[in-house]
Amino acid sequence: MSKILNLLQSVQAIYTDDHFVYTSGKHGEVYINKDSLYPHTKVTSQVCKILAKKCSDLDIDTVVAPALGGIILSQWISFHLSKIKGKEIYGVYAEKDPVKTFIIGRGYDKFVTGKNVLVVEDLTTTGGSVKKVVDTVREYGGKVVGVCVMVNRNKKLVTSEMFDAPLIVGANVPAKAWDENKCKLCKEKKPINTHMGHGKKYVQSKTK
Ligand SMILES: [Zn+2]
Repeated sequence: MSKILNLLQSVQAIYTDDHFVYTSGKHGEVYINKDSLYPHTKVTSQVCKILAKKCSDLDIDTVVAPALGGIILSQWISFHLSKIKGKEIYGVYAEKDPVKTFIIGRGYDKFVTGKNVLVVEDLTTTGGSVKKVVDTVREYGGKVVGVCVMVNRNKKLVTSEMFDAPLIVGANVPAKAWDENKCKLCKEKKPINTHMGHGKKYVQSKTK
């Protein structure tokens, strides 16, 4: 298993090889709670250091991520990139906007316009959200030199072609989910995890 997945497991941000019931009602083996990472600043820093190293061949002026969780990633990745490259790499973020999907406000556009930008995201399932940030950076006149994703759940769909820029991935964790009646884990009678996701409600509804 990759170093990043080990780090994420150490702070309960990812669980593998178990039997979960998701919000959708489908079943699967992996549960990701990325928000569990960020209170642990040392582990967050370690994860971002690995990501920064993976991106260090790119010519980067600024790191941009979507608010909220992305702000933390952007800060730590730019911090480590600055150390690796021996120059200041800026860390800013894009914010959701009801009209334009994303904006780069607070005067941060000056770190984006005419700059080489690395876009970062914690988790991609369809890549739709990070694609919008890539488009936003380009609208502001930034050059997207790469897209860095901590955990990619769909490596067939979320590719460098999607962003027209190099894609750097920390770990690939395929998103596989089955309907209850097709769940191989249920067939194997593997107990449902009742601590994460909707497993507890599911088990209670079965025992009524
Ligand atoms: Zn099942």
